[in-house]
Amino acid sequence: MIINIDIDSDFLKRRKREEAMGAISLRDIHKNFGAFPVVRGVDLEIADEEFMVFVGPSGCGKSTLLRMVAGLETISSGEMTLAGRRINDIEPRNRDIAMVFQDYALYPHMSVRENLAFGLKMRRAAPAEIDSRIAEAAEILQIGALLDRRPSELSGGQRQRVAMGRAIVRRPLVYLFDEPLSNLDAKLRVEMRLQIKRLHQLLRTTTIYVTHDQTEAMTLADRITVLKDGLIEQVGTPTELYDQPNSLFVAQFIGSPA
Ligand code: ADP
Ligand code: MG
Repeated sequence: MIINIDIDSDFLKRRKREEAMGAISLRDIHKNFGAFPVVRGVDLEIADEEFMVFVGPSGCGKSTLLRMVAGLETISSGEMTLAGRRINDIEPRNRDIAMVFQDYALYPHMSVRENLAFGLKMRRAAPAEIDSRIAEAAEILQIGALLDRRPSELSGGQRQRVAMGRAIVRRPLVYLFDEPLSNLDAKLRVEMRLQIKRLHQLLRTTTIYVTHDQTEAMTLADRITVLKDGLIEQVGTPTELYDQPNSLFVAQFIGSPA
């Protein structure tokens, strides 16, 4: 699909003015569930505007790490900052971070437009501002024709777009994606992957994207973090990881001949 967008919003100007507003720093992050350590000391700097992909086997702690960044899970120990501000104890809704889930999590009784507006209304945005942000998101995601439908009247791919739209209208400093495309069929996955790439090229919003799909990781990432058993195994650009995996584990995960 070809998308032709000309956005000259205050948002983009604001982004240009303020430096490193989307930089995230994770320092010695731990998470225990009861006595069970799931994240065991993660140190990671994510640059403003960076597209960071987390990969690793099922159960290695990717979702838990992401949920801690979102504030949906408490941190057992360590420190997280966003744009230099400590966010450990800040409520999820005040973090300026938007998360897109695999299961869409749309409100079934609301139209697409109401789904997009809901978070903004909760934040007491002005009606004109809500309308213009919805129009912008609808243009970016090509969902203008769907605004009066209910989620039950949408295909999987359309629902996923609306879920992304809900993140876009908030204009957060950071997007978090937890395997957003894994419920879609192969053709749609490719289409949505391109859409997500376009979205990032357009808005340059710092993104952390969890996936177990190597193609998604290699094509979307500025850098990839490979996780194993709650620890970082390696961080690097797709090329670095492919050319110089520092372990057989990374080599096998990235798919290079070991
Ligand atoms: P991933 O997303 O990499 O597959 P998760 O972060 O979901 O891994 O899970 C990491 C580990 O933490 C798994 O062993 C999982 O069973 C465990 N876990 C996740 N959430 C909870 C929870 N709320 N209570 C107890 N254990 C959990
Ligand atoms: Mg997970």
